[in-house]
Amino acid sequence: MGDSIHAELDRRCAEVAPQVVTWRQHLHRHPELSNREGATARLIADHLTSLGLDEVRTGIAGHGVVGVLRGGRPGTRVIALRADTDALPVTDLCGTDFASTAVDQDYPGGPFPVSHACGHDGHTAMLLGAATVLAGVREQLPGTVLFVFQPAEEGPPVTETGGARQMLVERALADPEPTMVFGVHLTPHPKGHLAYRVGNQYAASCLVKITITGRQVHGSTPWQGIDPMPPAAAIITGIGQLYRQVDANHPVTVSIGHLEDIGRFNIIGEHVTLWGTVRCAVESDMAEVQQRLARLAEHTAQAYGCTATVEHLQDVPAVNNRQEWLDAALPTLRRVVGDERVVETGGALGYDDVSEFVNAYGGLYLMLGAQDSEFDAAGNIVPTPGGRGVVPNHNPRFYLDDDTLPTGVRLHAHLAVDHLAGRIEPPA
Ligand SMILES: [Zn+2]
Ligand SMILES: [Zn+2]
Repeated sequence: MGDSIHAELDRRCAEVAPQVVTWRQHLHRHPELSNREGATARLIADHLTSLGLDEVRTGIAGHGVVGVLRGGRPGTRVIALRADTDALPVTDLCGTDFASTAVDQDYPGGPFPVSHACGHDGHTAMLLGAATVLAGVREQLPGTVLFVFQPAEEGPPVTETGGARQMLVERALADPEPTMVFGVHLTPHPKGHLAYRVGNQYAASCLVKITITGRQVHGSTPWQGIDPMPPAAAIITGIGQLYRQVDANHPVTVSIGHLEDIGRFNIIGEHVTLWGTVRCAVESDMAEVQQRLARLAEHTAQAYGCTATVEHLQDVPAVNNRQEWLDAALPTLRRVVGDERVVETGGALGYDDVSEFVNAYGGLYLMLGAQDSEFDAAGNIVPTPGGRGVVPNHNPRFYLDDDTLPTGVRLHAHLAVDHLAGRIEPPA
């Protein structure tokens, strides 16, 4: 295997590119929420089956799909290429003619509008493209490729299990075990740029549920009951002090995104429930922040005559890129996107449960820019004049540049081939 296979990969990637865009636009029009990715999984499984892979495993952790491609040459390495498949409860204002109008009527807490506001439609389409390309060169591959289509990256409903950890629990990647995991997330970085951070690329995360209990009463006579709403407000305000109790050099956020009560303006309810998320750039801060948050909530509630219970759910470890994996992969990354387009960036307080796979088997998770943006002199991402702007993931106006998708296909294909050939491997 030499430069000739790289040229062949590029040729095959160019061939499949129009289909990748078609898949992405189809998935964008038909998004599905976490743990409800049934039609998406069927599309994936049908295509992998049509490629004649050795195995197509379905129904993993809900709607997960894993395709197994055994190469035609002897080799012991196994690369897992990962894409997440779920969408978000966000209205689609991306402004294209394939914008989603989907509504999930039955989802817990819903109905919700549904859209691919995090770019997982692009991730899925790129990996389908890579599977097509690599299946086409299977006789030249010395090892095995696992195509890992993971559901529920954004987190399943709290009463359900799902996501990367559940795929591992169900031993989806146990046979054969990967020797490297690779994935990319599409982001507002400049089109075609590959951004990475050595160390924690993404933060450790958990979902927090705080239930404050008082005593229900008519809104006109609060003294005859115990109102749980004032301590809810005090807890939200008090969270602003938590930052000052953690090393200022360690980014932390605690956000209460959702407050739930009885739903009537003239009733003081029995309970108020706060739903939020905790993010820590330094993983070891998580336990301490959780403890301080629990203490704040319990004692604040007590001060108002209420009680509070605090539950930390859906904990996800940080995505950690190790220097030795990055060093090993850099030549390939630079060859695929161009030297000047591989850029080091800061970490982010987003999370991605790909960390479960990368932690278990080693590998890399990077960011591929897909918006009309550029770096200013200070390295900040700013809009390109006349472009569609810089729009963060999870925003209703989030968009992707379809012309960037073939670069993602090439990344998957080249990384896979180079790892299987022993060119990407950290020193033993
Ligand atoms: Zn997301
Ligand atoms: Zn995402």
